[in-house]
Amino acid sequence: MIDANRLERRSAELARIAGRGTSVSRLGLTADEQHARDLVGGWLAARGASVRRDAAANLFARFEGQGEAILVGSHLDSVPEGGRFDGALGVLCAVEAVESLVDAKTRLRRPVEVVAWADEEGARFGVGLFGSTATFGRLARGVGERRDRDGISIADALRALGEKGDPAAARCDPKDLAAYLELHIEQGPRLETAGIPLGIVSDIVGNYHARVTIRGRADHAGATVMTARGDALAAAAEVVLAVEQIAGERPDSVGTVGEISVRPGAKNVVPGECVFSLDLRAARDHDGLVQEVLATLTSIASVRGVEAMVDDLARIPVTPLDPKIREVLVHATRGVGVDAPLLVSGAGHDAQNPALSGVPTGMIFVRSTGGSHTPREFASIDDAALGAQALANAIKELAT
Ligand SMILES: [Zn+2]
Repeated sequence: MIDANRLERRSAELARIAGRGTSVSRLGLTADEQHARDLVGGWLAARGASVRRDAAANLFARFEGQGEAILVGSHLDSVPEGGRFDGALGVLCAVEAVESLVDAKTRLRRPVEVVAWADEEGARFGVGLFGSTATFGRLARGVGERRDRDGISIADALRALGEKGDPAAARCDPKDLAAYLELHIEQGPRLETAGIPLGIVSDIVGNYHARVTIRGRADHAGATVMTARGDALAAAAEVVLAVEQIAGERPDSVGTVGEISVRPGAKNVVPGECVFSLDLRAARDHDGLVQEVLATLTSIASVRGVEAMVDDLARIPVTPLDPKIREVLVHATRGVGVDAPLLVSGAGHDAQNPALSGVPTGMIFVRSTGGSHTPREFASIDDAALGAQALANAIKELAT
């Protein structure tokens, strides 16, 4: 049985780490995130789990058994001024689900391991799903040298947390895993609108993330006639609108430029350089979306006579989750009296890495309100407890 009071108490305790009111700013690969890992690891060590961290600072708490393990968890980092549920609720419910099985002295044949992935949001270094990508051997070369705004590299940040600084050394063998389960808030309005507390994820959208640099020519804003300019910002503006139009015209696609900086950045200088982010997602034909945007970017740059460079940060294909695990989750959610709908996830999740590495993977969504990546995001304790019980049901079915 899920102990909803324990779940709620721990949720509040975790939210106090780098939290203020309902706002949480617990960035990945920081001392705050480490503090959260220590707290969670302590809860499970007290129940007999063996707790370790890998070279990418992911936390694992394992209850031994025979054969391939059931891995269950989510992440503990947040975006700056995010909420207390994105990621954290998945770890809290995984802990509660496993503890409820320990409380009930359930005999689990397989090992069951709770995981808290490091730096899922990529808010500091721009590498989303960092920890799970490392563990499943999917990091791009040289990622350890990526730097934050203060010039600190991922390798430096890992060393400051007591690791060796080589995230690629964090490897697991996907064959050692029988299943990966993750619970997460929905971060969208579909369950709320339907009046249903839980959903089951069928697929996760493809996600492309890049940094684009447009180089034009900085010139005097008064003396340079309009026909002689290489305005990097004007070119970027055209790209931003093209992203909006292209994503708007394609089914199940979204495109966002959420970050932009202009150099030299003075009112009387024609912008010489512009750097912006590109975030492209689609549930279908993700490659087609990315190709169309990049081709349009190239053509805008060539028409305007500016240079465009694209630095790929992440490219994760559309990820279908495992149909057999989906059946287990349907059964597990029915066990708590919920007829959970199948949903496509528009947000990326750590679950993509095990799924793309061949581990049978499933996800439960918990109804959330107030959006996400904001202090307004919210999931009720009743819904969270239902989700944790469904997770416990699924672990029991898979591990016994
Ligand atoms: Zn998340």
